[in-house]
Amino acid sequence: MTDIRDDVTAGFTAVFGHEPDGLWSAPGRVNLIGEHTDYNLGFVLPFAIDRRTVVGVGLRDDRLLRAASTFADELVEISLDALAALSSEDAGRELGGWSAYVLGVAWALGLDEFGGDLAAVPGLDLFIDSDVPVGAGLSSSAAIESAVALALNDVWRVELDRPTLARVGQRAENIAVGAPTGIMDQSASLLGVRDHAVFLDCRSLEAQVVPLGLDEAGLVVLVIDTGVKHSHATGGYGERRAACERGAAAMGVESLRDVTVADLPRARELLDDVTYRRVAHVVTENQRVLDTVDTLRGESGMLLGEADEDGSGSSTVAVGPGGPLAIGELLDASHRSMRDDFEISVPELDLAVETAVGAGAIGARMTGGGFGGAAIALVKLDDLSRVQVAVDNAFSEHGFAAPDTFVVRASDGAARN
Ligand code: ADP
Ligand code: MG
Repeated sequence: MTDIRDDVTAGFTAVFGHEPDGLWSAPGRVNLIGEHTDYNLGFVLPFAIDRRTVVGVGLRDDRLLRAASTFADELVEISLDALAALSSEDAGRELGGWSAYVLGVAWALGLDEFGGDLAAVPGLDLFIDSDVPVGAGLSSSAAIESAVALALNDVWRVELDRPTLARVGQRAENIAVGAPTGIMDQSASLLGVRDHAVFLDCRSLEAQVVPLGLDEAGLVVLVIDTGVKHSHATGGYGERRAACERGAAAMGVESLRDVTVADLPRARELLDDVTYRRVAHVVTENQRVLDTVDTLRGESGMLLGEADEDGSGSSTVAVGPGGPLAIGELLDASHRSMRDDFEISVPELDLAVETAVGAGAIGARMTGGGFGGAAIALVKLDDLSRVQVAVDNAFSEHGFAAPDTFVVRASDGAARN
């Protein structure tokens, strides 16, 4: 971390010719479980990781916003007056590329819904560096949005709370970037607590932190970044979201949050096969999040992991006495549901998951929006090397590019410095 901060200070000074007034940072995240449930107003259980995006900020005495990043070889510049004048449509059209994640946050802070007013705030220079892998499903996008949102909130004295800043980041991503993503990533990045997961109800936006207990259980979370890049601004993500909306409309509910596993037989009758499977994933995934939280808290009463073939949704998953050692089957069931019903996995992710579990992982699943990116495996420390080697070998045998595997730690959320 120290390195990135030093790099940001050095990079900032090289580009802007003066030192930054302050540094802010925000982490990427791993989603332990609860995929594509956030925009269905359901439950998610991500945690902030020990990979961060750092932004250096310098106050200007004019009304210019300038941004640069080690990620891109350009300096982007816009006046705050021009930015504040952009309608949502204009923001989507005129902000683009990597800088939409930065300027989009500044723009969103000016929206009425956030009580924002950019008329009197000073211009800023911003320089960004990160060790969150980009496009790997670890949400480098939320990391940059959250770091910038917290920074602007402080320097412009906007005084929004963190859940609201998460919504600011989401607006930037939805409108300025044009990716129809939910609130999960920004919430994890802003609300994360070391050694805990963030249990978020995406309807009420109520967040609780849940102890992971990994150290006590001798477990680590291994990320297997397949290197397969995805883009949520195009294609599959939006299509899945549309299928969920279609399913909810056909079921006569506002969102799939209002459909339970007990409703799946009726969904099977009402919906075409593809829409049914999309709905079945979301509905069973919500239940798996609740079961995972109960299990981590050591509470009994785990119910089920996935819908039965006939849509009855009655299959039960036996879960042990509780704690992280007992969540493996829930992770595995989540992956199967994304692979077979939501159809957002890719062969590299399936291979990573299958191989990790075969080599002794407690459980594994793809994480993030899908169509590429990373898988996570919950692994006993003693088995870590074995799992890593097995995954490397399997990728090589299948002719896939070597994956990047690394352990992540549940970490604190966005902060100044
Ligand atoms: P993910 O969030 O899974 O990493 P996304 O496609 O949602 O993938 O977001 C990646 C995009 O976010 C990048 O293509 C880039 O536009 C922007 N981004 C992420 N990190 C940085 C960074 N450090 N500097 C500039 N842009 C970044
Ligand atoms: Mg993202």
